[in-house]
Order: sequence, then C-alpha cells, then structure tokens
Amino acid sequence: MSGSDHDFLSRARPGVQKLSPYQPGKPVEELQRELGLSRVVKLASNENPLGPSPRALAAVQQALLNPLELARYPDGNGYVLKSAIERRFGWAMDRITLGNGSNDVLELVARAFLGEGDDAVFSQHAFAVYPLAVQAVGARGIEVPARDFGHDLEAMAAAITPATKVVFVANPNNPTGTWFEADDFRRFMARVPSHVIVVLDEAYGEFVDDATALNGFDLLDEHANLVVSRTFAKAYGLAALRVGYAVSSPAVCNLLNRVRQPFNVNSLALVAAAAALEDDAFVQRSRALNAAGREQWLTALADLGLQAMPSRGNFLCVDMGRPAMALFQALLQEGVIVRPVANYGLPQHLRISIGLAEENAFAISALQRVLARADAAESPAGAGA
Ligand SMILES: *Cc1c(COP(=O)(O)O)cnc(C)c1O
Repeated sequence: MSGSDHDFLSRARPGVQKLSPYQPGKPVEELQRELGLSRVVKLASNENPLGPSPRALAAVQQALLNPLELARYPDGNGYVLKSAIERRFGWAMDRITLGNGSNDVLELVARAFLGEGDDAVFSQHAFAVYPLAVQAVGARGIEVPARDFGHDLEAMAAAITPATKVVFVANPNNPTGTWFEADDFRRFMARVPSHVIVVLDEAYGEFVDDATALNGFDLLDEHANLVVSRTFAKAYGLAALRVGYAVSSPAVCNLLNRVRQPFNVNSLALVAAAAALEDDAFVQRSRALNAAGREQWLTALADLGLQAMPSRGNFLCVDMGRPAMALFQALLQEGVIVRPVANYGLPQHLRISIGLAEENAFAISALQRVLARADAAESPAGAGA
C-alpha cells in the first residue's frame, strides 16, 4: 500500500470524521473571476461596509513604518490591546483573553473545558462555530429547539445535564439577528449551575441601539462562570486582521490562556484593535449606517411581500417563501453575494448583510429581477393576465 492509499478518514478522531467545515461567504474576487462581472456586491459575511476604523488604519500604517515589526514575534501577552481594554472598560488584564478573532476564543473554551463524555448546549439556528468547536474536541452538542427562531433560554437551562460543561449563547444571534432581554438572561444565569461555563457571544453588541439592552459586562462580577466574547471583526471593521477577546473571571481566563497559542494575535491586529477601541465616532457611524440600511431593506422587502426576522445585527434573515438556494445562485449571476442558511436549518431563508446605501440598492434591484423571473417561471405559461 502506497502512502496515499491510507484511509486517513477512519484514523481521524470520531468527532473530526463527522465534521463538515464552516462555509464562509464567497469572496468577491472569486465571483468576478468566474462570471467576468464588473460589479460585485458582497453582503454575505456581516463585514463593515465602511471599511476599517480610520484610527485603526492609521495605527497599522504607523506600525509598518518600522518594518522590523514584521520580522519579530508579536507580544504574546498583547499588552497594548489588553491595556486599551482595561482603560476602556475597567477590566484587569488577568480577566482578558485575546483571540485570533473571537472564533478563536470560542475554540479556547471548547479546548479548555470539553472532551469525550462532556456535553455542550447551544440553540437551534445558532452560530455554526459552536457545534463545530464542540464536535472537534469530541464532546456532544445538545441543540435546543429555538423559539420564534431565537434562543429559548428556559429550555436551554432545562437541557443542561450533569455532563454539561459549557453553554453557548449569542446575543444578537447570527444568522437570525434575534436577541434576548437582560432580565431573561439574568433569570437564565440564576438557573445555570455555577460550575457550568456560559459563553455569551456579543459579536454584534456594538450595533445594538437600546440603553436597556443586555450588556454581558454588567454580569461578570456576579458570575464567575460567565465568559463574554467580543470581536473587532464587525463594528470596528477589522475582519481581515483576526482579533477578538473574552472577559471572564481570572480563574477561567487562566485556563483559557493555557490552551492559547502563544502568539495567536499578530502585531498589526494588536495595534489596530487598540486604536479602534478608542474610535467611538467610527462605531457610531457604523451603527447609524446600519440602522438606515436596515430600514432601506425592510421597506424594499415589504414591497416584495417578504418578511425578515427582527434583527439587532448588521444583517437580516429573510424568509424567501420558497427554497432559497436557487435564489442565492440567481443573485450570484447578478453580481450579488448573500448567504444561504440551509446549513443552519433555514432552507427558505437568505441572510443578507446590510451594506452601504448604494450597495443595498444594487442588491435590492437584483433581488427584484430574480424574484420576478422566479415568479414568471412558476406560473404556467399563458395563465397570467
Ligand atoms: C462573526 C461572528 C463571530 C466572530 O468573528 P471573528 O471574526 O472570529 O471575531 C463570533 N460570533 C458570531 C455570532 C459571529 O457572527
């Protein structure tokens, strides 16, 4: 048997054998190459259509003035960024875990706490990385049916078994945009045994424009089992640099850092994120653009007779009223990339990120054409009029 004939699949760990990789949004360049389109609008990965925070960009440019930076390993303790987080939010550095994106933080939790024989609880239609991270380490995922597409916190608390070590919740959730209220989360935390880690994923927290909304940071001092994760990929516009963080109790932070790669966050990401954290004006601009774009979309969708789930994120999850994959393909032909979410158990929905006004308009007009064609194809020839 030659080396290439081994059945490596059967040699992989059981959890890994059954993994299907995370499906990212299609890159703009790929679609342009495939179809030779002059204009492509990507509304598929909840990125910031304004680009990066200008302060972050300036910090990266400044850092590159000293090219030696790129030859040296980054600061494995991320001092610059942790001190910026401490200045901004008051968390001592021994409570902060930096990640290569907040995705990394989710995996650190799985690696630190979960293995064969352990359970992790998450919601139906929740962020795909939770089941992936759980399965990759050999633990069992318990998916709790959603209520109105959102997390059913009571059912999630009830689903916890003696083997449950971690619960993942997202507020707002991706891909649904749904959220839960502060009181409901407080009741949930009161029910969860204090030895069970709760990861509260606030990747879209900066887009929420409601003073009464849940802010996970407010509960950290009451709950040593709470891990709040945040990212610089969305509102701060730094998705490419891969940087996020978690705040937790020092004890949990210590464990997360034991399984962290020593240089998981690169130097440019560290300085960019530290600068972005102080760019309130940019975050406000992003939030305002998102709110206006959401209205633009909701009006257009209503005109098309389509309904979106209520969303507090920078995206809308839209019920297309028919299998959405064909519409997704047809939109690609029009130069519009959105996200099918059949892999989230939502085969009739498309997730559409909110873009700049003109990007939204381009996509809306493509959607109008695509739906008109689909309607025409469905109605028997000559039956109209
Ligand atoms: C985008 C996203 C993240 C993390 O993204 P990173 O780029 O890894 O920081 C985490 N959680 C949810 C729900 C997201 O949508």
